[in-house]
Amino acid sequence: MDMDRPDLKRSKNSGGFLRRAVQAFLCLALSAATGISTFSAQEIASQSTGQTSPLRYEIWVELDNARKMLRARENIVWQNTTRDAVPDMLFHLYWNAFKNEKSTVLQESRQGSNLRSIQTKEGEWGWIDVVSLKLADGRDLLPTREFVIRDEPIHEEDQTVMRIVFPEPVKPGENVSLRLEFESKVPRTMLRSGYYQDSYFIGQWFPKPGVYQEGKGWNCHEYHLSSEFFADFANFKVHITVPEDFVVGSSGKLTSVSKDEAQNKATYTYEQSRIHDFAWTASPNFIKVERDFIADREVTPKEYEDTARMLGLALEEVKLPNVKMTLLIQKQHKGQVDRHFKALRMAIKYYGLWYGPYPYETATMVDPPYRTDSGGMEYPTLFTAGTSYFPTKDVLSPEGVIIHEFGHGYWYGLTANNEFEEAWLDEGINTYSTGKVMAKAYGPGAMGFVFNGIPLNWFIPFPKNYDYEQNRATAINIVEYDPVITPSWKFYSDASYGLNVYMRAATCLVTLERLLGQETMARVMRTFQMRFRFKHPTSEDFFTVVNEVTGKQMNWFFRELFLDTLNFDYGIASLRSVERQKHVRGVFDFEGKKEEMTEKKIKELEEKESSDKGGKGAKSGDQGKTYITSLTLRRFGEAKVGKEAPLKVLVVFEDGTEESRLWDGQARWIKMDLEKPVKARYAVVDPETVWLIDSNLANNSYSLKAVKRGVWHLAAKLLFGVQNFLQSVSGLM
Ligand SMILES: [Zn+2]
Repeated sequence: MDMDRPDLKRSKNSGGFLRRAVQAFLCLALSAATGISTFSAQEIASQSTGQTSPLRYEIWVELDNARKMLRARENIVWQNTTRDAVPDMLFHLYWNAFKNEKSTVLQESRQGSNLRSIQTKEGEWGWIDVVSLKLADGRDLLPTREFVIRDEPIHEEDQTVMRIVFPEPVKPGENVSLRLEFESKVPRTMLRSGYYQDSYFIGQWFPKPGVYQEGKGWNCHEYHLSSEFFADFANFKVHITVPEDFVVGSSGKLTSVSKDEAQNKATYTYEQSRIHDFAWTASPNFIKVERDFIADREVTPKEYEDTARMLGLALEEVKLPNVKMTLLIQKQHKGQVDRHFKALRMAIKYYGLWYGPYPYETATMVDPPYRTDSGGMEYPTLFTAGTSYFPTKDVLSPEGVIIHEFGHGYWYGLTANNEFEEAWLDEGINTYSTGKVMAKAYGPGAMGFVFNGIPLNWFIPFPKNYDYEQNRATAINIVEYDPVITPSWKFYSDASYGLNVYMRAATCLVTLERLLGQETMARVMRTFQMRFRFKHPTSEDFFTVVNEVTGKQMNWFFRELFLDTLNFDYGIASLRSVERQKHVRGVFDFEGKKEEMTEKKIKELEEKESSDKGGKGAKSGDQGKTYITSLTLRRFGEAKVGKEAPLKVLVVFEDGTEESRLWDGQARWIKMDLEKPVKARYAVVDPETVWLIDSNLANNSYSLKAVKRGVWHLAAKLLFGVQNFLQSVSGLM
């Protein structure tokens, strides 16, 4: 149990909270009596500043550290930008997932096939209660409240989606202004939100409307164990009140701080436009370090030129802005400050150059408080990394996590796909991008192995690999469970979810890159990012961009690899080189007669031919001989290459010469004969390993000299890591 020790400071805070609560109650009672909204004119004015967005939030939240509670007011202005008259609104109340064992998350967790099972102890539950919900004119909407459960299978008592009904529908173009009050019990960390002792990570904490989709209504899924989030872009202004000695980190930019010395409290105001979520953290144990990303110092003129050329853009379009970087790090990790900043600089640089300039002023990375289990998670302009043990040089941690989570600022943050329904669009694309940035910035790294808390890498020099190799090794054996594009809560298991949407999707994207070439792929990714910034792209949108940029029909690629459970495996079934017989046995018609060619006659003929060439024993024994090399290729898997992307087959002969052929790969097998004056040494299908997603690379090569069989040992080399990697999947979102 993680019970708080009641000390003097906390009891003072608790008293303060009570006094404030009484004041708030009086204020509310007064406003109810007079019909005056609790939303002051000043507050309304502050809402209207900044960039106009169809959705605006202003939230005042106070953390009661002693009771692990949040008390908050929340004003929401939502504009109906569709052509529908909207009668209701659906809200996410995520923390009710941690309320009791009837919640969808807890039910899914108890099914047992999940890696991410949730353990709850007495007193550690979390919940959120909306205690007041009115229109700005005071009309009470709370009586219309109901909890909505739509996703199959139905978990009837889940309370993570709330519906309210408006007195009259919101017409197209109209605004609706809502005034909410809510209180929440902070859970002992579950799914990355919560507390440990007096450290907090506060994510998915406020009532958040779903996304209204024209003609379809509200897209607002329950909180599922294996799913992330979906929300509209909004302007946020959030006032966070915490005990004075707490260090706060948050989405957005800090715009004011006020201290209440008498009550030992401080209020931090953060603002940010055009983000779709808002998270914050508070702990007395953070060290806060700030540094600047100065673009002109980080990127050389040549790098700008090369990038512009690769992407076919003007130089100005690839120029990067400066970014204010903040690190909140645990005291015991302060020796790793430079490692954290270097990784973040590399991420801002390469994501910026390749996918588009980072559009926000701040990037905050959080080394989450000890045992809050909040590491490896993305939120707009803020993310959590995590470094749990003294890192070793060869293992690129925390670098990989920092680069991955910052990268989500692009894939999820800016291209805000529906993470419930198509998680590969953020996780798969971002895992692919992480691999590219890691390779560029650091080269290969060793996988980290931990046994009983001890990093084995201290004692054993594990081989180094690139991300794409590690991803492939873990992604190839899960194909039969689910297609990559599957709603998150409908995957067979948490492992299938993780391996499909992260590793398999990323491996497919590396395959696509090898198929299209680096430059074309770079243009695909850039186009997709820039076209769908501040929008909600779907898989279909990604496919369309691929077709458009390549000028080809690539739908087959996605049909085979993303929308179905087809194993991709081409290989060589046999290879044989046999001398072609010049003289063959049997009866032949010769000058009107039947004549039999016998073995004796053949021998005589051969001896004659040999002596004509200058005698026996000459080294030119093979001269004049012809060998037929017979090759059988097989499609072992169900997945097929596109007809316009035939497989290459390379045959290498004993004299070092090479021959290559193409196979359209549509049939189950094909046999080919090649005639050469020498025997074959070996053959390889897909010699450049374009098809990284091929589940068995060992059968891609076939050597007549047995020793050489199996050019690639990658799978075997990494087998040891698979189990460890499966576990780490659940720790890296
Ligand atoms: Zn991720």
